[in-house]
Amino acid sequence: MAYCQLLEDNYNCFIPYGILVYNDTSKQFKITYDPKMRFELGSIIKEMRKSLNCDIIHRNHFEIKKCIKCSMRKHCDQKLG
Ligand code: SF4
Repeated sequence: MAYCQLLEDNYNCFIPYGILVYNDTSKQFKITYDPKMRFELGSIIKEMRKSLNCDIIHRNHFEIKKCIKCSMRKHCDQKLG
């Protein structure tokens, strides 16, 4: 969703969908960028901006797999596994 929005903002055009490609399997999935997704992206951005004003941001999941593959793992004091 973020990449679709970035393309729209930078190229001043309408992006109806994006393609998610998993590196390890090369599987591709078409992701429709519809009004519902745009609203959802807007809500997530608002939540992220609100979090920037907090001193501590708590982990919102219990998924070890997510933490193990996370690029922020090295710096995170709430990592699992
Ligand atoms: S390592 Fe930290 S930032 Fe990454 S998914 Fe886990 S809790 Fe979230």
